[in-house]
Amino acid sequence: MAQVNQVITLFNGYSYLDPADPKIFISNCTCVLIKGLDGYNIIVDTMNPWDGPKILEALKEHSIKPEDISAVVSTHGHPDHTGNNNLFLNAKWHIVGQTIMHKDKFLIHIPFTPFELTRDIRVIETEGHTLSCVSVIVENSSLGGVTAISGDLFEKKEDIDDPVLWQEVGSENQKAQFKNRSKIADMANWIIPGHGEGFEVTLEIREKLQQQFKNN
Ligand SMILES: [Zn+2]
Repeated sequence: MAQVNQVITLFNGYSYLDPADPKIFISNCTCVLIKGLDGYNIIVDTMNPWDGPKILEALKEHSIKPEDISAVVSTHGHPDHTGNNNLFLNAKWHIVGQTIMHKDKFLIHIPFTPFELTRDIRVIETEGHTLSCVSVIVENSSLGGVTAISGDLFEKKEDIDDPVLWQEVGSENQKAQFKNRSKIADMANWIIPGHGEGFEVTLEIREKLQQQFKNN
């Protein structure tokens, strides 16, 4: 088999207004397993706190036990992205947004420069949805080229044509979000958004996002 980092979406996220109650937004995140080269396994965004058994079952289908996870990344600190981080206590790093820790030790990493998990997987800052959001950049991805697991920088593919979809779920820095959306599209062949299915980045998508950045 080719030497690639396997990017596996365990669950596709979703988000929508509850048709029965306009005060309720129904949401869960996209949860991704990276089976990295040299056995370095990463889980990105661990869904809501009630989903532990589901995640363990899905990992088992890929022959991964919780103790096989080398790093946990939550793209930001919202509870639908951090809910099951403590299933993975063998991990060398727990990264939540721009905070990197192991047990009671916080890595002093300010400002947040790209943090290398392996030689071809890194965590970079992508402020926007929250001020401390990050994305995971996987080179040599099994999807082909570079895959960006972007968290809520992208809510779902549809938010490219309809920016209201990412703006209405909250953006702590819209200007930065426009900029980082375009930046990530320029560097990635695939984007896995925070609450939808992964999608391939086309030239048309890149141009659209550049235009939106310029106009805002
Ligand atoms: Zn989210």
